[in-house]
Amino acid sequence: MVDESSYRQGGRVGVLALQGDVREHTALLERLGAEVVRVRRPEELARVGGLVIPGGESTVIDKLSRQFGLAQPIRDAIGDGMPVLGTCAGLIMLADSIEDAIEGQQTFGGIDVVVRRNAFGRQVESFEASLEVPLLGERPVRATFIRGPVVERLGPDATALAALEDGRVVAVEQGNLIGISFHPELDGEPRFHERFLDRVASRP
Ligand code: GLN
Repeated sequence: MVDESSYRQGGRVGVLALQGDVREHTALLERLGAEVVRVRRPEELARVGGLVIPGGESTVIDKLSRQFGLAQPIRDAIGDGMPVLGTCAGLIMLADSIEDAIEGQQTFGGIDVVVRRNAFGRQVESFEASLEVPLLGERPVRATFIRGPVVERLGPDATALAALEDGRVVAVEQGNLIGISFHPELDGEPRFHERFLDRVASRP
């Protein structure tokens, strides 16, 4: 069970609020007892001990984060070990390298993977799957995919947390960074957010 009080002591966390499903992440984090700041400016980033990068459209999040002067501060914070949870477009933003990017598209990076954008093609833009995620316990994760990416190549520094039945990796972790292809915030699946909040709480 979640010890909600420990998250309050763990400090505040941010949700990158440039574009995407900010509200759903905020609601889930608050339900878990976290204090949430919507991050649009470097000053807001400086006030949080961890960051969630929501799903949405990675090309837009990339463009706006550069326009808002947030891209480099986020990279620096990742370099300093700040815990970050990225879902869908958020995973793309955390990947060191992307395939099927638009011209000039950049990521924050930090996870040693190559991800492919829109990997499921037009026919299956959205679907649900039940995923085994041993690290999160026996109960499978109900996962909703919406034009999600997959991990094409996993570098030696990254660990796979979950894969589809065909073996394609859809959740990864590296140090304090967690990246997942799907949307637990839409399914009320709290365990990835709990893991993220545990990381935030255990930082000095
Ligand atoms: N296809 C989107 C992208 O490339 C991601 C979709 C999502 O976040 N739901 O950014």
